[in-house]
Amino acid sequence: MSHNLTPAKLATLRALPGNGTCADCSAVCPDWASLTYGTLLCIECAGLHRGLGVHLSFVRSLSMDSWTNEQYERMVRGGNDRWKDYFFRRDGGGDNTTTTKTNTDGKVDPKTAMRMKYESDTARTYRERLDACDLSESNDEYDNAVVSTTTTGSVSPIRRAVRLDKDPPPTARECYNILMRTVYVVARRSKFARRVVLGWAMTGLSIALYGTRYVIRRRQTMVECNVVSSSLPNINPAAHKYMTGGTTCSSMDDNKLRIILDVAIAPCIVAVIFVGLPYLLIRHGIRKMALSYIDNRQESFKSARNLLVERIQMGRAKRHLSCDAYYPPSNTEDDDGPHAKCGLVFFPGALVDRAAYAPIAALLSDRGILVVVVNLEPFRLIMTTHDYPLREVTMRTICDAMLLSDGATWTVDEWATGGHSMGSHLAIAAVTNELSSSMKKVVLWGVMSYPSPLIYPCGDLRDVEDAKALVVNGTEDGLIKSTYGGSPEEKAADFEARMPPRYLSKVSPTTTEEDAVSSRGEERGRGGYTYFVTIKGGNHSGCAHYGPQMFPIPDGVRSITLDEQQLQMAEVTADFLLDKLII
Ligand SMILES: [Zn+2]
Repeated sequence: MSHNLTPAKLATLRALPGNGTCADCSAVCPDWASLTYGTLLCIECAGLHRGLGVHLSFVRSLSMDSWTNEQYERMVRGGNDRWKDYFFRRDGGGDNTTTTKTNTDGKVDPKTAMRMKYESDTARTYRERLDACDLSESNDEYDNAVVSTTTTGSVSPIRRAVRLDKDPPPTARECYNILMRTVYVVARRSKFARRVVLGWAMTGLSIALYGTRYVIRRRQTMVECNVVSSSLPNINPAAHKYMTGGTTCSSMDDNKLRIILDVAIAPCIVAVIFVGLPYLLIRHGIRKMALSYIDNRQESFKSARNLLVERIQMGRAKRHLSCDAYYPPSNTEDDDGPHAKCGLVFFPGALVDRAAYAPIAALLSDRGILVVVVNLEPFRLIMTTHDYPLREVTMRTICDAMLLSDGATWTVDEWATGGHSMGSHLAIAAVTNELSSSMKKVVLWGVMSYPSPLIYPCGDLRDVEDAKALVVNGTEDGLIKSTYGGSPEEKAADFEARMPPRYLSKVSPTTTEEDAVSSRGEERGRGGYTYFVTIKGGNHSGCAHYGPQMFPIPDGVRSITLDEQQLQMAEVTADFLLDKLII
């Protein structure tokens, strides 16, 4: 059965990493596809591919041709970046690259170059791997990272043994290196840090200059003294010694040497105090921080891991390299394969094991939401977004989660993003920076602060058209109530000012639905809103199965059970994502 690509499928293909440009020449908005490699091509390159013959590349038009489900799924498994990465890793460094040849030597005929590229062994192995669906799991770079026995091998309906390997912590060295880089990036971004460094350097420099001047002056007076004494008639060596103040009369060359030495020593001392000491102190601080990041990793409760394993065995969850995906109960009668109304790309809190979110993610998936918990190992946090391709990571996790090992693909009507604690900041940054056109809903748990411009620079979510946010916090959340970095009220006010306008809740007796609508309508008139929900008795670590949390700030004590808190949170989050929140 074949039909034209639906707009949703077309959008999915276009959104795959690298699919915005032609796989061969980087022309924008490619409208053709090579089914053989799962890549998108511009019209010129598609013509060249046709010339290669269908055994090397089978070309289809995205808009004019009809497609079978299998062809579409093959395209989702591929993607331009995946192919380019593969080709570059295998062929990129070698001298037989066709791409570099065409670049450096303009005389190579593009037809010949194309033929060399696609007749290569690399292209052949890629074709074969795409045929066998084993691209994501057994690429070389992933070989040592295969996660569970279920992700490879054939799929059988019988329960399989599932092993969830514990994620090893990073080494102290790795942690130190990445923190050092982060400190550098943050210091460069921070006006205050730049001023401190400048002030410190100026002070050091002036002390060095002043010291040098002082030394030179002193030497000069001594030299003058020597000159005076040596011009006296040499009556008696003892008298001479007396008159020159105890020093023996040295030659002028000797004095010059002394001056040079003295002049060099002053800056050296200053350099040690002003450069060496701070460097050692910073190193020591970062090393301590690195160790605390390793010591304070939050492992998930065993119950959460067990639930994840159980869900994997039921076929309701899958551990991918990029994420853990939790699937809604599949509606097998559907002709177009499994379908979910909403998907949620979720970033775990800093240092928290992603498996700790299994219970709440399972609750959400039972409500029909495809939940994707992003893998942030080994550090379990993103230090800064300057070298973290947030958009690509999000798209990659979505593609991985949508593909099932039997080749079926999930269709998801709307994707949202969210996070817990520091993960919330990543979600806000993702939407405001790059994903505002495709993601409108943001779910934030355990947060009442806006991302720091030094760590995750981003604009205001308030300025994103139609952005809808849900903020869920517990009354006993120790991290929100902390006075670190300002009073909690001030931080909350700053946070709210940058979020879409507060959508007044109907719970408040004085507010009617009309009031709520008008109160959001008058601010910037863009239709976005933030819905604040407070869980009575809930705390910070209650958003997932781990704890107790003492780092970086001790959490409060929960007065409801963990299950109660997560049930309430899952209910309100599912209502929000499925547009059922009664306002
Ligand atoms: Zn092209």
